[in-house]
Amino acid sequence: MESISRKTFIKSSGLLLAGEILVKKAGAFASGAAQPAETASKPAKKWMLKNVRLETGFVYEDGEVIATETGLFRVEIEGGKIKAVLPNDPKADATDAKGQLMLPAFRDMHIHLDKTYYGGPWKARLAKNRSVKDMIAFEQKTLPELLKMSTYRAEKIIELLQSKGTNFARSHVNIEPTSKLDSLKNLQKAIENKKDSFGTELVAFPQHGVFYSHSEQWMKEAAAMDIDFIGGLDPNAIDGSVEKQIDFIVQLALDHGKGIDIHLHEGGEPGLKTVEYLTQKVIENPALAGKTFLSHCFVLARLEKPKLEEVSEKLAHARVGVISTIPFGSTIMPIPTLYRHGVTVMTGNDSIVDHWNTFGSGSVLQKSNLMAQLYGQSTELDLSRCLKLATCGILPLDEKGKQQWPKAGDEASVVLVDASCSAEAVARISPVKALVHRGNPVYRN
Ligand SMILES: [Zn+2]
Repeated sequence: MESISRKTFIKSSGLLLAGEILVKKAGAFASGAAQPAETASKPAKKWMLKNVRLETGFVYEDGEVIATETGLFRVEIEGGKIKAVLPNDPKADATDAKGQLMLPAFRDMHIHLDKTYYGGPWKARLAKNRSVKDMIAFEQKTLPELLKMSTYRAEKIIELLQSKGTNFARSHVNIEPTSKLDSLKNLQKAIENKKDSFGTELVAFPQHGVFYSHSEQWMKEAAAMDIDFIGGLDPNAIDGSVEKQIDFIVQLALDHGKGIDIHLHEGGEPGLKTVEYLTQKVIENPALAGKTFLSHCFVLARLEKPKLEEVSEKLAHARVGVISTIPFGSTIMPIPTLYRHGVTVMTGNDSIVDHWNTFGSGSVLQKSNLMAQLYGQSTELDLSRCLKLATCGILPLDEKGKQQWPKAGDEASVVLVDASCSAEAVARISPVKALVHRGNPVYRN
């Protein structure tokens, strides 16, 4: 990195990295000029965007939404928040959004930032690793090498996510006897380096099983560190007991005031039992409601309709969310049913490129697009609703077309996209032109 100038680096990465480089002046996206490092960690001051396109309503014909109305505005930002949305003034001394559409910044709610190949040479996954236990054996061999560059690669993958409009990720991080706490510590360094431009929450993830690999003590140590969720993995398939692993996770989460987010790939009776047992534990322990999640949860895709309706109802009642993969091979998750019951549904890239998967693009807007395609959401209204998968539920317009975002006081984490409205952004996976993280300009394309 020393061999190229900082300016060249900024240009070549296409990114403006708060934490190392911030803005040329508060109130503008940096154009490649670096400021002294000491200004970097300060929050951006008051600044203004002009010619910002915002959605203002729906256009109806015969009762159907046929278009989205938009207008141009100025958006004032201060202290990491949107201070005001004002009438446009093209002559204002402000950063020019050039008529691009402002949307809430995107959030990737399931990714493994700690063990990616991204930032290194391309490498597709190997056919020989078929089962989760094969993968555990493979990781025990390969993680020591990966750990040597995991901080650098985590920073590179964060930059990729930023370039796709994402300013926040929930990352699982390996906690097992091979990595010990090093994967966590290395990732925490990357997060610290990116803290002004990217937000994270971490899941202590027993990737090699809790009991299968004797990870209990490491999980207990991780739980006392700066993490947000206790993870888990296929309790029956890996640890041989649904109750034993779930009881351990639930107790650890309760003892340390954390949430829960477990990987559940296994289907059939053990998969369903895991869903029902965990849901029951959350009902018995209200402290876990709203902060317990089942990642993947493929078993839901294989349930008969009446059982699916029943389980969805229970998940909604217990406030247990599903972090869904979209799609996963031929498995199509019942996302519309989950939404209909009021279950929280979120998504993420999971992998960009690693030994588990090679298909991630870094874009969660692409996930919204895939959801729209998979479930036949092709009208203006339906497409506009699909955006919520990328924004974790925030939509500029409500069902009736009433503007609900942005409002004064909202977090100033926004993207500018080259689209005329949300529906077009979802349908076209429109290019992200800029990202602002909590008031700090991060990325400008
Ligand atoms: Zn995962």
